[in-house]
Amino acid sequence: METSTEGAAAGCGSDVAPVTGPAADGFPAGADSTVATVEAGAVEADAVAVADGARAAIPPASLSPSRASDFMQCPLLYRFRVIDRLPEKPSAAATKGTLVHAVLERLFDAPAAERTAPRAKSLVPGQWERLRESRPEVVELFADDPEGVRLATWLGEAEQLVERWFGLEDPTRLEPAERELFVEAELDSGLRLRGIIDRVDVAPTGEVRIVDYKTGKAPRPEYAEGALFQMKFYALVVWRLKGVVPRRLQLVYLGSGDVLTYDPVLADLERVERKLLALWEAIRLATETGEWRPRPTKLCGWCDHQAHCPEFGGTPPPYPLPVRVAESGGVPQGRMGPD
Ligand code: SF4
Repeated sequence: METSTEGAAAGCGSDVAPVTGPAADGFPAGADSTVATVEAGAVEADAVAVADGARAAIPPASLSPSRASDFMQCPLLYRFRVIDRLPEKPSAAATKGTLVHAVLERLFDAPAAERTAPRAKSLVPGQWERLRESRPEVVELFADDPEGVRLATWLGEAEQLVERWFGLEDPTRLEPAERELFVEAELDSGLRLRGIIDRVDVAPTGEVRIVDYKTGKAPRPEYAEGALFQMKFYALVVWRLKGVVPRRLQLVYLGSGDVLTYDPVLADLERVERKLLALWEAIRLATETGEWRPRPTKLCGWCDHQAHCPEFGGTPPPYPLPVRVAESGGVPQGRMGPD
């Protein structure tokens, strides 16, 4: 596997690719985008519908990496999120991730020489204010913190994550072609793939690098494939949009100070496409039959829906779509790995 990591996890895997230092890999300032920009939209809108006088349930016409991962993790979780659309509480960790992403995106508004760590950290309070305005529900996170003690700690943690980034990449030597880029591509089958890419760098040679920031820790090498699924998904979308296989996929783990890179080849993207089509077929069957199996794992600890999950003594809400009986063998919802 052509993965490499920088920092603490470096050298853990075999077939280690050259490590990418800050802006030392041919993606300098001033490059033009070769990636199509699509009007930003509701990337999570891969909902189902009922057609023909409520006689048939139409499966989602699109998939995002998050929802594909949901189905692979637990089909019932996918149902709760996409079909039932059950509300979920904001989490402090996810909200911190959103905040840090906003800061890293906005930092590139400044001239290159001014993209310093102090400047980036100074953006944290303002971006937190913006987040509170755009998503008022996040205020709940600190409803029991009238003195603002926990909030101050939490903002301090966000600043630390931002600061750590400067040891992994050098924004004074980067000029992203795109930031928070919404992309969408339709496969021959009609399935639309969509998502938001944190950053796209384009070298003068036209080579494309896709970058994603993670505020958690890098996975152990044996779990790297799962982490790369999202990146290969994006690479497939870019390839389908522009006919260009991205030169490099780069995951920047701010939680542990690691960088995971992978240089994909066309066969990787074809494999991911086959995988996604199989996934979509499984989702289509489950949508029509109403069979969404729970798949308990240690990730259940993070699931907001235990009260509705039979694995935890709960009962799912009534299925909101018309169902048909599976013809044979039920719905194939065996374990579906990322690749
Ligand atoms: S609690 Fe676990 S098994 Fe149940 S829906 Fe959530 S992720 Fe699936």
